[in-house]
Amino acid sequence: MNLESEPETQVKHAAMPAYAIEVGAEALTGPGRDSVGGWPFLAEGQAWPECFCGERMALFFQLDVPQGMGPFSGDHLAVFHCRAHNDAVFPPLVEGQLAGEYWEAPQGPYPGSFARVLLQREAALPAPDPDPRIRALPLKLEPFADEPDAYGLGAQGCKIGGVPSWAQDPECYRCACGAELVYLCQVPENWEFEVYPGSPEQPYSIGDTYNLFLGNEVYLLACPAHCDPAAVWPVNQH
Ligand SMILES: [Zn+2]
Ligand SMILES: [Zn+2]
Repeated sequence: MNLESEPETQVKHAAMPAYAIEVGAEALTGPGRDSVGGWPFLAEGQAWPECFCGERMALFFQLDVPQGMGPFSGDHLAVFHCRAHNDAVFPPLVEGQLAGEYWEAPQGPYPGSFARVLLQREAALPAPDPDPRIRALPLKLEPFADEPDAYGLGAQGCKIGGVPSWAQDPECYRCACGAELVYLCQVPENWEFEVYPGSPEQPYSIGDTYNLFLGNEVYLLACPAHCDPAAVWPVNQH
């Protein structure tokens, strides 16, 4: 056995495993922890997030983070975004680090925030009602080998863990609490979320679908210190 090769092997093993996130075809008829739309699982005392406009944000998707994902193993990830307000977001920085309660910071021309990503450790209970607009469908996580290419970029597509496939330069941010955010999940460009017939239109989306952040590719960077359930920054790129 060549002892000198050991440290390198350990580094490789320390990388996050990757799972492709796939949407199932059969409608959910009751709460499911891994879903598009559906019944959000919320920790005790955690309210269903509301947009600055007063409207409840739509639950786009949620899932249990699989084991092996470092500080996020077993957390529950839930991505909410307003139906009526659809735009890209930019990180509110103060002296090079994310501002306090950056998830609440006003975005663009708006007086507040219109999206919320929750990473909860004790999301035990489903809300009594499902999201009324986004069609409730199950999500499935399929492990795959996300080998970085010659530029260090991972596979495109919807995935949790692995290596981000940055459409532009890689971005990293320091949380308001001081911890470096860690990449956790990637949402592909123009992921169209099917909505129920009769749902109000979302600005800048196509037909009977909604999208996240104007259809930008989204990289979720999360606070490994769990300083707040909302301490996740959704990097937008295209
Ligand atoms: Zn709104
Ligand atoms: Zn933090």
